[in-house]
Amino acid sequence: MTDAAIPVFLPWQHETAQRWLADRERFAHAWLIHGLAGIGKTQFALAAATALLCENPQSGMACGRCSACQWVALGNHPDLRRIRPDAVAALEGDDTEPADAGGDESTATSKKTLSKEIRIDQLRQLHTWFNTATHRGGYRVAVIYPAESMNAISANALLKVLEEPPANTVFLLVADAPDRLLPTLVSRCRRLPLAVPDQAWCIDWMRAQGVNDPQTWLDAAGGAPLKALKAAQGNESACPPWLMRLAQEALAPATPDVGPIADALEKIPVAEWVDVLQRWFVDLMLALHSAPARYYPDLAERTGKLARSASAQALADTARWLTQQRALADHPLNAKLLAHTTAQRVLLALARGPVQ
Ligand SMILES: [Zn+2]
Repeated sequence: MTDAAIPVFLPWQHETAQRWLADRERFAHAWLIHGLAGIGKTQFALAAATALLCENPQSGMACGRCSACQWVALGNHPDLRRIRPDAVAALEGDDTEPADAGGDESTATSKKTLSKEIRIDQLRQLHTWFNTATHRGGYRVAVIYPAESMNAISANALLKVLEEPPANTVFLLVADAPDRLLPTLVSRCRRLPLAVPDQAWCIDWMRAQGVNDPQTWLDAAGGAPLKALKAAQGNESACPPWLMRLAQEALAPATPDVGPIADALEKIPVAEWVDVLQRWFVDLMLALHSAPARYYPDLAERTGKLARSASAQALADTARWLTQQRALADHPLNAKLLAHTTAQRVLLALARGPVQ
């Protein structure tokens, strides 16, 4: 016997999942599961894959007891493939890819060289898999996440597969931003958008995971519960320390020091810190109209002070500029330069006196 568990749907996903999985007979062969980052889309896709493979589903959900469910729990169901970058697999602590996956250089690969892309050979390996009979003639399920991490070559290889889909095979693509996928690939998939869950679900769930003050964390994560949980487990405060420092610098009577803030930003993925700044600018705009902070209540007092002395125009301009940077944040030309420029620009927008 084993303690390993199958992936299950999150509480807020049950209804959508049940409705979606109900019609197995006419289930599409390729789905694009998309929605805000950090709401549990990958877990949804893996739970769905398990439900599709289960030999004795209960109201469409995996039973957790049959041999198929046991195999999924142990990570060795022959009809399930998880296709994700090596870097993601390593983060998941996974070394359970089937032995026939081929090209196994993983033991020699150090963490820093792990690929952040889904490689072409990961998709090529599927052809052997397609030609193998499925267990008891059931489904074969490939979960591809994050789909954005396919490069142009991989995406085209997948497109070829989807143009002539193998029998009994379901592809579940998971993406935060479908607009960054190859449009022809998107057009081959049916879409399943997942909404941001209701706050009440998230709060209950986070509390059950042992998070104190789930509301603060959830606010800071823009309502995305998995992102909020991860932040709560890895940080002391929902407001990032560098943002506290930034607000403090902006309030200081002396000329603000951009250096330490830019240094802190450089260590974080660009998309992550741009998100934080965008949220804080929402709080600043709210404060300008004497409305309470939506994302960083811990910072409300400083935010209020800064908003009162800043120019509304400068705040609006900088907020707009941040939106433009966000669109490019996944592939910044020069992350270091962007960190410096942004820290400078934000401090300038909040300047209470002349800034150098
Ligand atoms: Zn089962």
